[in-house]
Amino acid sequence: MIPFSYSRAGTAEQATAAAASGHRLLGGGTNLVDLMRRGVEQPDTLVDVTGLSDDIRPTPQGGLMIGGAVRNAALAGHPAVRREYPVLSRAVLAGASAQIRNMATVAGNIMQRTRCAYFTDAATRGCNKRSPGSGCDAQGGFSRYHAILGGSSACIATHPSDMCVALAALDAEVHLASAAGLRVVPLVEFHRLPGDAPHLDTVLQPGEIITALELPPPPAAMRSAYRKVRDRASYAFALVSVAACVTVDRGTLTDIRLAFGGIAPKPWRALRAEEALRGAPATPQAIAAALALDFAEAKPLDGNAFKLPLASRTAMAVLADLIGDAA
Ligand code: SF4
Repeated sequence: MIPFSYSRAGTAEQATAAAASGHRLLGGGTNLVDLMRRGVEQPDTLVDVTGLSDDIRPTPQGGLMIGGAVRNAALAGHPAVRREYPVLSRAVLAGASAQIRNMATVAGNIMQRTRCAYFTDAATRGCNKRSPGSGCDAQGGFSRYHAILGGSSACIATHPSDMCVALAALDAEVHLASAAGLRVVPLVEFHRLPGDAPHLDTVLQPGEIITALELPPPPAAMRSAYRKVRDRASYAFALVSVAACVTVDRGTLTDIRLAFGGIAPKPWRALRAEEALRGAPATPQAIAAALALDFAEAKPLDGNAFKLPLASRTAMAVLADLIGDAA
């Protein structure tokens, strides 16, 4: 590891000033420090922001405001999260070991980088995300963990977060601060698709920091669930994951929000399926037909074509459970 300096930011103003100066912000370090050890990231300066807001409080609208420095373990175990947003609690618990959850922060989780093996191995040559213009070794290489939706000829890496899949289904918003002021971005718009610039993971601008996450009030009678399919029973990234929030009234889906992980470069909201299913009878046939609308544009490779039926079947199983519970 190359030498670097370390300091702590005590206020959001100090953190935004550090970010504006080009310094890297450090949360729990569970991703960035790994990448530094591997030589993928080589920051000169780390500014520790774990001393910033780490509280979870109700909003006047009936939702929750979650500080960016809240640890993942604290988020998953918070009584209001467990009671009102169980999909989020379960996604965080599915995400990592207890030790990592104790260290990782909410803002760091949102900002974590892909676990594409070609990206995290600095010895590989072709990775447009790590080294723009160098190519993409995953295409034509080992693509089991890669995207079937939303990728480009420049990059097919998947987003690794479980938490963000639940946040996408919950319509969460990301609060950002910079010297220019504050702005709020829907979580589903925060992460970028790769296009021809896969080195840009998010819409975060230079000098901006994540200060908080806001959850809207949960709809009345909403049921939610998170299911993750992976190669090992624990401590593995998702091959496919599904976050679903539904409201069912006498056999009809009056509200549905559905997001997938493990299949795209960002948490993938299945907006076409949602539109087709909202107000529809909650039958397996209707759900299968609706999911096919979202997956029609999938571009699987030989190594990851299995994700297409796996994602569809996992979503159908999750929805069947939620609808059955509601009945
Ligand atoms: Fe790099 Fe993306 Fe290709 Fe992986 S998929 S090697 S991250 S460019």
